[in-house]
Amino acid sequence: MTTTPTAARTVLISGASVAGPALAYWLRRHGFTPTVVERAEAVREGGYAVDFRGEALDVLERMGLLERIRALDTAMGDAALVDADGRQYATLPAVIFAGDLEVLKGDLTRMLYEATRDDVEYIFADSIASLTQDEHGVEVTFERGAPRRFDLVVGADGLHSRTRALTFGPEEQFVRHLGIYTAIFSLDNYLGLKNTGRLYAAPGKAANIFTARSNTEARAAFHLAAEHLEYDRHDRAGQQRIIAERFAADGWEIPRLLDEMAQAPDFFFDANAQVEMDTWSRGRIVLLGDAGYCAGPTSGRGTSQALIGAYILAGELAASGGDHTTAFAAYEREMRGYVTEHQRLGREGAERFFMPAPTQEILDMLAAQSPENTRTSPIRLRDYAAPSSLGSAPVTAAISAA
Ligand SMILES: Cc1cc2nc3c(=O)[nH]c(=O)nc-3n(C[C@H](O)[C@H](O)[C@H](O)COP(=O)(O)OP(=O)(O)OC[C@H]3O[C@@H](n4cnc5c(N)ncnc54)[C@H](O)[C@@H]3O)c2cc1C
Repeated sequence: MTTTPTAARTVLISGASVAGPALAYWLRRHGFTPTVVERAEAVREGGYAVDFRGEALDVLERMGLLERIRALDTAMGDAALVDADGRQYATLPAVIFAGDLEVLKGDLTRMLYEATRDDVEYIFADSIASLTQDEHGVEVTFERGAPRRFDLVVGADGLHSRTRALTFGPEEQFVRHLGIYTAIFSLDNYLGLKNTGRLYAAPGKAANIFTARSNTEARAAFHLAAEHLEYDRHDRAGQQRIIAERFAADGWEIPRLLDEMAQAPDFFFDANAQVEMDTWSRGRIVLLGDAGYCAGPTSGRGTSQALIGAYILAGELAASGGDHTTAFAAYEREMRGYVTEHQRLGREGAERFFMPAPTQEILDMLAAQSPENTRTSPIRLRDYAAPSSLGSAPVTAAISAA
């Protein structure tokens, strides 16, 4: 493949979580010049646990990160279901929630950032404000920084993607709510649990606590069934009031967990949702990961999709010699079936999410049908790693100790 003077070289990536840094890694390796802009002040630490399945492990291995990631595995064992009096009445097999490998999302993000920061320009505490594309590139204005021009722009900015809104229109057109709201926060492992969790379920609601960071910490979550809740996405106290009202009369550890939530150092609250789009690109702008095809937390595949999507998008850009039209079409062709299957898993998982007091028999059946045991078609990972005509650039191999 011969490069032309118009072949894309500079790529602005919005979002430095999973998809963004993974794409930056592969673009550098294929000789492109990526810049990553992230709204947060720094990469986000901690967070909830995410798992990897199937070919995502191959991508991590090709990045030379698999063993480092394995060292951070939460090593979660089976968890117990408890009733309102704290009595354990069933066991939830780890296979249902922990995948092939499970790590804290913040640990993954930090590792991807550390693997790229020496070779990639990162801009924190800023966001794209406007995007204007023409035949030769994209003019980008930022909320804080000076305007710049890039050959391509990639939206890896998650479920509420600004890149998607600016390019395709308001998120109501694309975000499909799954009927579940989830709150997650960090707390001390005050129950003294060891590589396990406790889950409480009642009609239309559920709560759980799981250990984190070698049992030195814990993460707790509240889940509510609701079609649509009116709340301000920036009003933490208002979101916590919604949870506190819904769980006000519940037993077990719920009163303590509500207190812990009010004082937690971090707090995440959002609808479980999917993103459904007919196409992921428009001209020189393309979406990656949750921004373009979120499958929802109940699919257990969002992280895998973000990593594999990054690998394929960068690979197709390299294989096409920087011809974005050819590359974006190939990326979508390779990914579409894989994403469709995961979105189906996400919807099925959401439908059975609120099962008050499930019996052991049902849980064992679910384990047999869990995403890990559910056959989805394998995705082909072409070997794009061979140096393309763009030339391959070094990517920092040494990663500082976690
Ligand atoms: C509660 C919960 C549990 C989950 N559990 C699992 C699991 O077990 N397994 C699994 O595979 N997946 C799980 N997921 C899904 C997984 O977290 C996502 O699929 C994955 O993080 C997608 O990565 P991403 O990089 O595409 O998007 P995100 O991780 O959402 O990252 C988007 C990034 O963009 C940044 N950003 C947003 N707006 C802007 C802007 N305007 N400008 C610049 N930056 C911006 C954000 O700060 C963030 O850093 C879970 C998700 C949730 C919510």
